[in-house]
Amino acid sequence: MRMNKYMLVILFTVVVAITIGMTISEVTLFSIHPSVTYQGDTMLLQSSREGWVEFNGEKYQLQTLNHQYVALVPIPLNQKPGTYEILWHPIETLIHGNITALQEIKKAKVVINKKEFSTQYLEVTKEQQTMVYNDEKIKEDRIKYTGAMKNPIEEPLFKEEFIQPVEGRITTMYGYTRYINGVLDSTHQAMDIAAPMGTPILAPNHGKIVLAAELYLSGNRVIIDHGGTLHTSFSHLSKLNVSVGEYVKKGDIIGWVGSTGFSTGPHLHHAVYVHGYPVNPEQFFGANPLSW
Ligand SMILES: [Zn+2]
Repeated sequence: MRMNKYMLVILFTVVVAITIGMTISEVTLFSIHPSVTYQGDTMLLQSSREGWVEFNGEKYQLQTLNHQYVALVPIPLNQKPGTYEILWHPIETLIHGNITALQEIKKAKVVINKKEFSTQYLEVTKEQQTMVYNDEKIKEDRIKYTGAMKNPIEEPLFKEEFIQPVEGRITTMYGYTRYINGVLDSTHQAMDIAAPMGTPILAPNHGKIVLAAELYLSGNRVIIDHGGTLHTSFSHLSKLNVSVGEYVKKGDIIGWVGSTGFSTGPHLHHAVYVHGYPVNPEQFFGANPLSW
């Protein structure tokens, strides 16, 4: 069949329409940073349009930042490696609870890589070992620190990269499976940095103190709310130098290295929480999560 002029015009219009359609969906699509992710990592999701994202059945609202919309999204440590879908929804559906029109949902794929986590065998005295079985006191601890992280500051209080809070030898990395006196205890969802007793611990970035108290297992503990749903935590301090409600600047001394609570020697147990999930602190040293 010979194509007449009329059919050619229609064909041309269809091709142009498809091309424009693809371009629009790419523009409104969101990007995921960094491009390679591992179990326990934090992702930065960026979009040119207001909305919210869905990963792993959890919803995260995008916040305005430098004419963009961003959200920090945690990958739990126990997330199975593989390919996952992240969905972007327009803002209206979160406010009005409407069901999003199918064509409005944008999808992107993220590959979560396997991270090799080692095993640690810790030997402690019988007295110390019984500490980890006091469920009542451990529950009280949990209520205190999760309570401190409720109602976080939405707007990021920091603009620069995070610093390592204390110089020292990293003795236990994030993600270690820990055995105490040969008994499976827990997965270490923080990083231990050994340093001499009394070494100053610095605020890794600007933030507000939301916990400064003595806890049962954590000993003297500080939690900083950095805004943007990001918290950092510091345990086993010899002494606290801050109190709840106070604002700190990056580099301020928040306390000193000690061995209070469940601890076998002077060290800092340092945790980072994103939306309340303990993530790998290593990713934050010398980096700004809002620009990675
Ligand atoms: Zn630790």
